[in-house]
Amino acid sequence: PFEVLVVGGGPAGASAAIYTARKGFSTGIAAERFGGQLHDTLGIENLTGTTYTEGPKLAAQLESHVGEYEIDLMDRLQAEKLIPASQPGGLHEVVFANGASLKTRSLILATGARWRNLGVPGEAEYRNKGVAYCPHCDGPLFKGKRIAVIGGGNSGVEAAIDLAKIVDHVTVIEFDTKLRADEVLQAKLRSMDNVEVFTNAQTTEITGDGSRVNGLVYKDRASGEEHRVELAGVFVQIGLVPNTEWLKDSGLGLSKFGEIEIDGDAATNLPGVFAAGDCTTVPYKQIVIAMGEGSKAALSAFDYLIRNEPV
Ligand code: FAD
Repeated sequence: PFEVLVVGGGPAGASAAIYTARKGFSTGIAAERFGGQLHDTLGIENLTGTTYTEGPKLAAQLESHVGEYEIDLMDRLQAEKLIPASQPGGLHEVVFANGASLKTRSLILATGARWRNLGVPGEAEYRNKGVAYCPHCDGPLFKGKRIAVIGGGNSGVEAAIDLAKIVDHVTVIEFDTKLRADEVLQAKLRSMDNVEVFTNAQTTEITGDGSRVNGLVYKDRASGEEHRVELAGVFVQIGLVPNTEWLKDSGLGLSKFGEIEIDGDAATNLPGVFAAGDCTTVPYKQIVIAMGEGSKAALSAFDYLIRNEPV
């Protein structure tokens, strides 16, 4: 068995494994796709100390950093089931889709999250070419331009408020008949003079000129009429879904959004099981945060391992 098994190989998982390996613990990483969301990211400009990098490059750097240590990196391995230890100090078991299973004294869950897609024509084609998901990351790329935010929940309205300060104009498009964000956010949004809100509106297409987004089409759900909006960017804000479906029946505490509930030490409700990054209840989902959380989970796993003898 491992002393530490990390499930997930994004920034959080890589950081966790490096920390526990440096403590001398036998460490494994099992990941469906090492690098995680970094593979979907183009420019990264907010990783402190790194003025500019690109997702796939950072993923390769994580892999070579992990490779500096005796970490057993098992890529293309999808976890399907967690059988937690029956008592503190006991072994946790993770079962994988290929039928294999691994046992470990401590477990760090870092399976990340995925942005919910609209699923309309143009969205996939223009991803990173005007279609964006992270306002903190990509907002400044649209400085002085017209953009839309799809989704009028808290994250959509927060994104619109954030972006309205940077871009020329924001169109918010909400499917429902009214915005669903907290009233205080809606009031703030209404106070901004370069924001327009369309409710009861279904985005049906994101259009482009072959290389970049140039507009979107939405349908007025009351009249059935289609309208076109000219713009340079579309931020899709209809939900970030944690990759935790496989943990549902494990006894692990999950929030109503499916995020793994952690405390300030990155500990879950199960002794010896820690979690880090976008799959958890940690506020704000960013690379620098995922890396920090991964190292925190690793140090907590270290603390657990030195206090609990194997049983
Ligand atoms: P992830 O990166 O999601 O990694 C999760 C890992 O778990 C992957 O290896 C995955 O394959 C694996 N996994 C999932 N399910 C299973 C399973 N069942 N079994 C085994 N393995 C599994 N953040 C920034 O700070 N700056 C940016 O500029 C930026 N731009 C972004 C642009 C885009 C388009 C996207 C999508 C995100 C962006 N982010 C950015 C957010 C950032 O990528 C995430 O916050 C960060 O990757 C989270 O790291 P993580 O390790 O928690 O999860």
